Amino acid sequence: MAPNLIGSTFLIAETAITNNDANNNKQTTLAKTSCKSSNDRVPNQGESAAAMQQQLAKTSAQTQSKTDAVTQKPYKMEIVWFNVMLFVILHSMALYGLYLIWAENAYLEFFIGYLYAVLGGLGITAGVHRLWSHRAYKAKLPLRIFLMLCQSLAFQNSIYEWCRDHRVHHKFTDTNADPHNSGRGFFFAHMGWLMCKKHPDVRERGKTIDMSDILADPVVKFQKRLYFLIMPICCFVIPGLFPYYVLGSSLQVCFFVCSMLRYALSLHGTWLVNSAAHFYGMRPYEKNISSVDSKVVSVIAFGEGWHNYHHVFPWDYKAGELGTYQYNWTTAFLDFMARIGQAYDLKSVSNEMILKRVQRTGDGSHPSVQDVNNNNVNISELVSKLDHDNEETLVWGWDDKDICDEDRKGAVHKKEE
Ligand SMILES: [Zn+2]
Ligand SMILES: [Zn+2]
Repeated sequence: MAPNLIGSTFLIAETAITNNDANNNKQTTLAKTSCKSSNDRVPNQGESAAAMQQQLAKTSAQTQSKTDAVTQKPYKMEIVWFNVMLFVILHSMALYGLYLIWAENAYLEFFIGYLYAVLGGLGITAGVHRLWSHRAYKAKLPLRIFLMLCQSLAFQNSIYEWCRDHRVHHKFTDTNADPHNSGRGFFFAHMGWLMCKKHPDVRERGKTIDMSDILADPVVKFQKRLYFLIMPICCFVIPGLFPYYVLGSSLQVCFFVCSMLRYALSLHGTWLVNSAAHFYGMRPYEKNISSVDSKVVSVIAFGEGWHNYHHVFPWDYKAGELGTYQYNWTTAFLDFMARIGQAYDLKSVSNEMILKRVQRTGDGSHPSVQDVNNNNVNISELVSKLDHDNEETLVWGWDDKDICDEDRKGAVHKKEE
């Protein structure tokens, strides 16, 4: 996931991709391919091992040149000290909030702060992630307005900018065009990327991502225009004033506990999806990408930790196959919304499609695979050897024109309107 809090909320030093990119939204020129990567091929009967070897060598050479095109630009990392300073201030205030819980006996306010974090979390997971970034389902106007307000409460940039960064992350995962490229280390993927200037590839490739659907939604357009009015009201004013008037809490506790501490903790919850869920866990569906399935991250991030699955099938509204509602609150929320008619056309993946993918490219950790391989993978080694040939089949979500026919036809649509 791609919260770009400081990245352009505090725009000063961050020269983000210009908003004009909506007008330049050329779809990526990467060729549409079948779902099957050539590296995953098994020799047909009669196809000699030598021929297969030759094919793999050819693929590897093509892969190398494609990777070079993305990664060989001269680049010197530039730290944005202003953003670093803002993060230091935020975390200092959050720590003071932590102290106040104990000093002022503010446990109730902390609980209320957690409820705000849940609302903000849904704005991110159900809203800007599964609905707007991936088009994994459709939502009626009241739900879209609710999710927009929740997303503003989370203060991770406007829906438009969040979606753009996130689509780039999916489309160019683990290359320099990935805003939080996990190949640059855990800290960079977690929050370091918000403290330095974007790699030129991020801007360049970002312009190729189609964002026309995002701007066609009046709710998104409205938020984009008034973000710096809506966001402070939703993120800081209302969350602070509610306990002040209703519980008679001190303004100090309201600000540091319900606003700053809650905000800092919820940011780290989201960031874990970019960091931990690209490092520590299993790869049951695709062993050639860095993202993993992590139960712990799923609990913290309301169901967004099934990240290996999610990168393979980003257009599934559940963003995961395994785990029940307790590991995926967002899916429980969306199923409820579907029941009351607010969410519809929820797309998911058939069991058959999942099993085929598990057999073809999984690491053997899927429950359906009897012979569970050991998964002692060296992360840095894996990231350095990532199979960028799969870049051709990476998609950001349902409306990506590069999605293969097999996936499109095999998708299950729940509650078609
Ligand atoms: Zn995603
Ligand atoms: Zn990811």
